[in-house]
Amino acid sequence: MTAPDAPVPCPRCLSSEVPGGEALSALLRQWTEAIPDERRADGALRRARLDVCRACPHLSAGTCALCGCYVEYRAAHAAQRCPDAPGRWPA
Ligand code: SF4
Repeated sequence: MTAPDAPVPCPRCLSSEVPGGEALSALLRQWTEAIPDERRADGALRRARLDVCRACPHLSAGTCALCGCYVEYRAAHAAQRCPDAPGRWPA
């Protein structure tokens, strides 16, 4: 049982928005910056993908329940696709 004052993970949140997720968020930003420019999705594409993730029933506190990826990191790879069938992300 959780303590009454403990933050409750938000299923519809990204890792960067989960209470106490600052360290993970910083790590994901670091990983994203390490993706070579030619393989990194631009900001507009990342935002469009993550808007879809936020409304998706498979999102669980920043992780996709279908593939186990941190969605912010997966969405940062231009060649990655949403693992759902059919995929939910915009092309
Ligand atoms: S199934 Fe697709 S849209 Fe849903 S959380 Fe996973 S990556 Fe995001």
